[in-house]
Amino acid sequence: MAWDIIGHEWAVQYLRQCLAHGRDAHAYLISGPAGIGKALLALRLAQAMNCDQETDAPCLNCRNCRRIERGNHPDVRITSMTTQAAGLKADEAARQKELKIGTIRDWLRDVTLRPYEGRRRIFILHDAERLNEEASNAMLKTLEEPPSFASLILVANSADLLPTVVSRCQPIRLRPLPRQQVVQALIERAGQHQETAALLAAQSGGRIGWALQMAATPDEWQASQERLDALLELHRQTFSLSFRWAEERSKEYRGGAQETVFAWLELWQSWWRDVLLVAAGCTANITHIDRLDALERDAHNCELAQVHAFVSRLGATTQQLRENVNPQLALENLLLHLPTRPA
Ligand SMILES: [Zn+2]
Repeated sequence: MAWDIIGHEWAVQYLRQCLAHGRDAHAYLISGPAGIGKALLALRLAQAMNCDQETDAPCLNCRNCRRIERGNHPDVRITSMTTQAAGLKADEAARQKELKIGTIRDWLRDVTLRPYEGRRRIFILHDAERLNEEASNAMLKTLEEPPSFASLILVANSADLLPTVVSRCQPIRLRPLPRQQVVQALIERAGQHQETAALLAAQSGGRIGWALQMAATPDEWQASQERLDALLELHRQTFSLSFRWAEERSKEYRGGAQETVFAWLELWQSWWRDVLLVAAGCTANITHIDRLDALERDAHNCELAQVHAFVSRLGATTQQLRENVNPQLALENLLLHLPTRPA
C-alpha cells in the first residue's frame, strides 16, 4: 500500500490520517509551483478514496486505482484550462485566459448523482488560480456543501484565489523539495548519473515533477538549454536582432503557446537571479551550476542595480502578459532594459 509520492511527506501523512479517521474534507486546495507534484497528489487522493482496499493509501493495483490512473474512471471528473480549450481553434484557444462559468457548470453538472463504480465521486479542477469571479461564485455553494459522497479537489499554481473559495477548502500547500532529495530520486528512479542528476535538480528548484519529466524527455531538456543559450546571446546582439526574438515569442504567444513564453521568461529570471547570487558570493544555491564562468562574467560586467530591476521586470512582464498586454510590445520593452556594463 503506497502513495508512491516523492517528498511532501507531511501532506501524505495528513491525508492518511484524514482517511484513516474518516475525516476527509469535502474540498481541498492543493497549491504550489508548476511541476511540484500537485496533480499526482490529487490523483493519489482520488485513488485512495476509491481503492478497493479501503485503507489510508491507494493500492495502485485494483480496478478502481488503475482506471483512475489512466484517467477513465466514471466517478473521477477532471477539468482544466486544457479541457476548456479542447476543440477550439489554436487562436481561440490562445485567447483563453480564465476558467469560465460554463466550464465550472459543466464540471459539476451531475455532482448530485451517486457514484457509479467507486465509493466517492471526485471532482478535480486544475489551474484553479485562473478561475474568474463569476466561475468562482458558481461553485461556492457546492464547495460549501457538496453531497456526502462527493469531494472537490482544486489544484492551483498559487493559493491566490478568491478568499470565499479558499476559506471553503482544506489547504495543502506544497513546497519545493530539498535539492538532495531530488538528486536522490533522479538517480534511483530515473537512472540518472550523479552529475546529470545534480544539474537537473539544481535547475528544478525543488520541483520534483519537473525534474522527472525532464529526465524522461531529454529532448525537452536539451531544448530548454538551447533556449538559455539564445537568451544569453540576446545580451550581445543589436536591438534589431533581439527584437526579432521578441517577434518570434510574440507569434508563439498568439499561436497558443503561452506557457512556452512564460517558460522563456522564467528561465531568464533564473539566470539573472543566479547572477545576483554569484555577485553576493552565494554560489551554493545557484540554478545553473554548469555555467558558473558565464555567471561570474555577468556578475562582474553588469550593473547589479540594473540586474535587480530586470529580475523584477521579468516578473512584471509575465503578469502583464496574463493581463492581456500586447506581447510584442511587452517583450520589446523588456529588451530595452537588459542590464548593461557599469558606466
Ligand atoms: Zn486500489
